[in-house]
Amino acid sequence: AFGVWKALKVEMTGMPELIAQLHSFVGLAAVLIGFNAFAEEGTGASTFQLSEIWIGIFIGALTFTGSLVAWGKLSGKVPSKPLTLPGRNWINLGLLVVIIGCGIWFSNVSGGIAWLPLVLLTLASLFLGFHLVAAIGGADMPVVISMLNSYSGWAAAFSGFSLHIPVLIVTGALVGFSGAILSYIMCKAMNRSFVSVILGGFGDAPAVEGDGPDGEITEIKADELASQLSDASSVIIAPGYGMAVAQAQYPVAELAKKLRDKGVDVKFAIHPVAGRLPGHMNVLLAEAHVPYDIVMEMDEINDDFADADIVLVIGANDTVNPAAMDPGTPISGMPVLHVWEGHEVVVFKRSMKPGYAGVENPLFFADNTRMLFGDAKASVDALVAAL
Ligand code: NDP
Repeated sequence: AFGVWKALKVEMTGMPELIAQLHSFVGLAAVLIGFNAFAEEGTGASTFQLSEIWIGIFIGALTFTGSLVAWGKLSGKVPSKPLTLPGRNWINLGLLVVIIGCGIWFSNVSGGIAWLPLVLLTLASLFLGFHLVAAIGGADMPVVISMLNSYSGWAAAFSGFSLHIPVLIVTGALVGFSGAILSYIMCKAMNRSFVSVILGGFGDAPAVEGDGPDGEITEIKADELASQLSDASSVIIAPGYGMAVAQAQYPVAELAKKLRDKGVDVKFAIHPVAGRLPGHMNVLLAEAHVPYDIVMEMDEINDDFADADIVLVIGANDTVNPAAMDPGTPISGMPVLHVWEGHEVVVFKRSMKPGYAGVENPLFFADNTRMLFGDAKASVDALVAAL
């Protein structure tokens, strides 16, 4: 009932945080079920049953703290910057050795002493979950969310073993495998190494802190943009997280309709991780009744920017950042929308702050870029009115 109540109350923008919270509940439940199963069955249980218990607790505890950190990062309560403790890969390896060692000890010892390895491996798993996710940078969070989804499935499957409920084993395994496949697909889309992300950024080169781009920016007002749009023959709209925050999808849909009615060719460019959830933008645009046939995936539209008269970047930042093409930033190697190739680019945002990954964006200083400052909804409303 609590889950349904929370899910109904939360807006689409807050959904990723809610999902991370719910994953943490699954993890916690798996830990409690494991402890309860051991309290009931005791060390008299078979080695197989004891192994189910400790592995279930291990994955559950990892999921619990990992999901709490992911929730903190997504909701801005914890900085999205990766935590890079010295020797972090050795710390992870050491924790894994402690967990497996305690697991083997737990499965082979009799009497009350068995609680000791169980508690130790639980504490080590809790810390491992925290450390793995804390080490992952903001730009890789989408993969983390689907990875935690997978872990929560495995945690549920092991709870199914402990509780002798086959349907929980089957559904848990389905979630576990589908989450793993989704994580793999997302890693490919973002040009990230699956193994590196699972191992908390193992092998990632630390990002080089630069001075960031500087130069002049040029502002534009809604009235001026409206007259330029009226003369344009093709316009591409690249929405991002800011459109979701501002709830600007309805005026954006109206803007697209108005322009199409004037004979302008309008398309939407959707980056696979725009927003805070896979498919976030698609859901918002569908909600505002934007026709599906003008909503294009990144690979379909990236070659078309060069032919666009005006590109409107509405609340997107990391997903349109040309710095991703250079080495040494947290988003390096991530494919981005080539918005800067448009004849003119207009960026709708409230300030010069960087996006989620914390990387400065040279797009704002480009000669063909104009900045339209203000809340995205208010700006698009003004634009629609001027049109
Ligand atoms: P970003 O988070 O990079 O940028 C959003 C921009 O919107 C900000 O620069 C902000 O600037 C602006 N903004 C915020 N509120 C408003 C508002 N009310 N009106 C106007 N502008 C606003 O968004 P992107 O969609 O480009 O990129 C998504 C990022 O999130 C990527 O780094 C991705 O890896 C990460 N991520 C994605 C997930 C997914 O599954 N899709 C999950 C977790 C993270 P300002 O404050 O100046 O207004």
